[in-house]
Amino acid sequence: MTDHIIVCPYNEELLDKLKERVIVISIDDPGIIQSIHKEANKSLKLNAIKVQTENPLSSVAFQEDWINLPLAVYSPEFGKYKDILRKLNLIRKLNIRIYLSSHYDDNFTGLKILSSLNISCGLYFNEEPPSWDALNDLMHYAIYSNTKHAPIEPFDWLASHYEPTGYTDYSSVYFNDPTKYLHINEKEQIALNEKDLLNDEFIDEGIQSLDRICDNKKYNDSINSRYDVMLQMSECAFCPVFRICLAKFSNIAGKKDTCKAFFSDFMDAADYAYIKRKNGTQTWQL
Ligand code: SF4
Repeated sequence: MTDHIIVCPYNEELLDKLKERVIVISIDDPGIIQSIHKEANKSLKLNAIKVQTENPLSSVAFQEDWINLPLAVYSPEFGKYKDILRKLNLIRKLNIRIYLSSHYDDNFTGLKILSSLNISCGLYFNEEPPSWDALNDLMHYAIYSNTKHAPIEPFDWLASHYEPTGYTDYSSVYFNDPTKYLHINEKEQIALNEKDLLNDEFIDEGIQSLDRICDNKKYNDSINSRYDVMLQMSECAFCPVFRICLAKFSNIAGKKDTCKAFFSDFMDAADYAYIKRKNGTQTWQL
């Protein structure tokens, strides 16, 4: 059986077929979490529940009975601070990571607030480029700040997995690294990531195919060609920070002062975290 974690919708028939596998259930209505809770108690090997709500975080109706569930809540915006404050005690009891969209600049402050309140959190990217200054500022806070705070993704993941001699891909933070996660829909069509699933770009079909995925040509071609951009005459191919960005922002114009500048600082921060990891924290003294 494949070791991949399978990202799937909430569909009882499909879940029944997947019950021997570790899964992430992807939903867009937090109201469904109650039903998943009952299923989880019976049979599911649940890695996470990914909830992509359209509502601000402050209006999500967090529930006491979510406490034992692994939750990744994606919300477009932070919302009203006073409303979040009222729910803070409950949120802190949950096994949760909260993701906010890079679309709104206020979310960068929202993530600092969540992190400082010891709530694990992260930024997810939209099609349009983020505010690079705000992103850089948040990254600096996530990696360099000595004040006690919860991890902010993808910065914490990359800093803790970074190897100076290789590629580091933080896509798994979003359940989108095809070496670890595969996505499947109700028709049992299999895709390498969420975007491919939404665009009907499938590599195979049928639950049984999951066990043969490592022999699947499309799967192997995709895994083996991940770094082919390095062979092309593109700006990313000659970019010194390709090994942590992996051309994730290849579509944007004017890369020098945007993605390249940000990822250059991000790589310095990852180097800093790497050295700290290897050597431990050293106290400077006279
Ligand atoms: S930082 Fe920009 S130029 Fe460099 S690899 Fe990423 S997208 Fe390409």
